Amino acid sequence: MKLWEMLPEQVREAARKNTPVLIAAGVIEYHGPHLPIGTDFLIAHSIVEEVARRCECVAAPPLILGPTGSWAAGPLDGEFDFPAEPFFHYVKAELRGLLDMGFRRILVLQHHQGPEGVQSLCIRRAASELALEDGRARGHSWGQRPPAEQPRVFDRIQVLAPTSFLSGEEAQIPWGHGSLGETGYILGVYPSLAKMENLPAKPNISWLKESGKATAEMGRRWFDLCVQSWVKALS
Ligand SMILES: [Zn+2]
Repeated sequence: MKLWEMLPEQVREAARKNTPVLIAAGVIEYHGPHLPIGTDFLIAHSIVEEVARRCECVAAPPLILGPTGSWAAGPLDGEFDFPAEPFFHYVKAELRGLLDMGFRRILVLQHHQGPEGVQSLCIRRAASELALEDGRARGHSWGQRPPAEQPRVFDRIQVLAPTSFLSGEEAQIPWGHGSLGETGYILGVYPSLAKMENLPAKPNISWLKESGKATAEMGRRWFDLCVQSWVKALS
């Protein structure tokens, strides 16, 4: 289910049943001449969309902009370095809204720079501030009350990666930046959005050197693995 397609009564029912909420998060960033600038976002979005089709969960409004530090390129190449502070406030307000609707299990599927990257840290900061606010609102020493009287505040929001529910070799997707993994993924899941003929035979950017070896088959396999692992984790 997509939150924006639900009726008010469906929202109330989903919250009452503790239905998990998924939020796709990525950025708009230059990924080489052969990939769409939304590659990171599309990787997260494709998994959330498919998981929401296959199991009972709610897809909430996605986070498509985030800080990039202008690492890969600038605005003339389509890079969107959205500042961290307003991004953090936006995320916090969205998460607050979902908590106020009654949702208690929110999973942000984030793909850009990994768990220590700025976008992930902004989302984690929003989640931790909400936990502290709701904890302090109970007064002092609320952790000493019987468990049934303690609200869940510390584990309501998780920030995860596409591969968080995979293990061993399956979790070792060689994402890179516009490299083998991300190129294969876009070829497999969004074939019409990649333009491999734009990739020079010998790219002078180091992170594009392996991109030409990517195939749609590998991307499709990674997509299936990620989706299956998320469906299993939520079912
Ligand atoms: Zn990327």
